[in-house]
Amino acid sequence: MSRQAEKPLNDGPIIHKEKIIASKMIRIYCKKKHHKKELCEECRNLNEYVMKRLSYCKFGEEKTACAKCPIHCYTPVYRQKIKGVMRFSGPWMLLYHPLESIRHIPMPEKLKRPLSR
Ligand SMILES: [Zn+2]
Repeated sequence: MSRQAEKPLNDGPIIHKEKIIASKMIRIYCKKKHHKKELCEECRNLNEYVMKRLSYCKFGEEKTACAKCPIHCYTPVYRQKIKGVMRFSGPWMLLYHPLESIRHIPMPEKLKRPLSR
C-alpha cells in the first residue's frame, strides 16, 4: 500500500457539503431505482468511490461542480454511473433539497427573483 502524502485529505465545508449532496443523490437513486431501504452493494460502492474522489479532489475548497470540472478524476465506469445518478436524482433534488441543488442545476434567471405582482 503506497500513499501519496503530498496533500492532506480535503476536509473543508465545501467538500463536506458536496459529499452530503452526492450521498443524498445516490440514496434517492437507489431507493427509486433499486427499491432498497438501505443502499445496495453497487450503490454503496459508488458512494464510497465518490467520497474518496472528493477527499482527494485537487481543487479542494476551490472546486466547482464536478460536471464543470476540467479534470474528470473519475474512471470511465464510475463516471457513467454517477452521470446516471445525477440525471435521475437531479429533478428529485430540486423537489426535496432545492437550496442544495442550486449549485448543481442551472436555474432560469426568473426563478431566482421573488415573484411580484
Ligand atoms: Zn442501489
